[in-house]
Amino acid sequence: MSINFDDYKCQFCGKVSTNFVFAAFVCDNPECIEKARIERGGPGGHMKRKAEGKPIIPDYPDKR
Ligand SMILES: [Zn+2]
Repeated sequence: MSINFDDYKCQFCGKVSTNFVFAAFVCDNPECIEKARIERGGPGGHMKRKAEGKPIIPDYPDKR
């Protein structure tokens, strides 16, 4: 499976994404990558969720 990054925008600044990190599309701005990492719960965050039997994609309850 390949990802066409042109179809996705950076979730933080809205530019065309170039990376998929921590389950977020981001551009190559280190700040955006860092935001994705923090939003994800840090390194291994999604694996931790997986181990707990939760969905890998978080539902961000504090943003509703
Ligand atoms: Zn960005």
